[in-house]
Amino acid sequence: MSSDLTGGMVFIGAPGAGKGTQAKLVVEAHDVLHISTGDMLREHRTAGTELGREAQVFMDRGDLVPDDVMIAMVAERIQRSDAAKAWILDGFPRTLPQAEALDASLSESGTELRHVISFQVPQDELVQRLTARWTCSKCGEIWNVVSKPPSQAGVCDGCQAELTQRADDRPEAVMARLEVYRTQTEPLLGYFRARGVLREIEANRSPELVQKSLLDQLGEPAL
Ligand code: AMP
Repeated sequence: MSSDLTGGMVFIGAPGAGKGTQAKLVVEAHDVLHISTGDMLREHRTAGTELGREAQVFMDRGDLVPDDVMIAMVAERIQRSDAAKAWILDGFPRTLPQAEALDASLSESGTELRHVISFQVPQDELVQRLTARWTCSKCGEIWNVVSKPPSQAGVCDGCQAELTQRADDRPEAVMARLEVYRTQTEPLLGYFRARGVLREIEANRSPELVQKSLLDQLGEPAL
């Protein structure tokens, strides 16, 4: 396994832009830790923790979970020993206070934020991608009624269990999430551009092509 990627990397993109898919592809081929705040929150929900119950209300309607909760969760995660190697933060920061808190905790621990990657996809494509996404209720496999349909509608090919739609992939929640991205997260691009760490990727292409330009960008030194 290659360990040529070092330091901290942040993936920013609207919901549906494919940052989680891209992070998983990087992790399959490189010795990098994938920290997805959406996945961490969903794990809390499944485990029925208090944090999970609190977060669910915000998540289901497409809103952001409050900054103090997210900042504490990520600060604790990146202090664990497995985060001493290179990591990708997928889905954090999403607001300016989160970005400032990340900067503060990284400078405290002496970790370098090497790259911030912005995945760019036109809004109408995002809506189509998100509302087409269905998940197997048993094995978690993700299907897409447009780009990766199951052989039988509503049923997982692998385990024959019923497919369900994430509450936050329903059309009303999707529109709310895109608006939250535009107003609260997009301003971070200017913040990181000014710091000289921002790289922008045209992500309205196949996952393989996006991965290729991503690795080209990550392999280069920061600007
Ligand atoms: P994701 O899987 O990254 O789309 O995240 C799913 C949901 O989790 C989001 O719509 C938010 O409700 C919540 N969430 C994930 N990361 C954050 C964050 N950094 N700040 C606030 N809420 C978050």
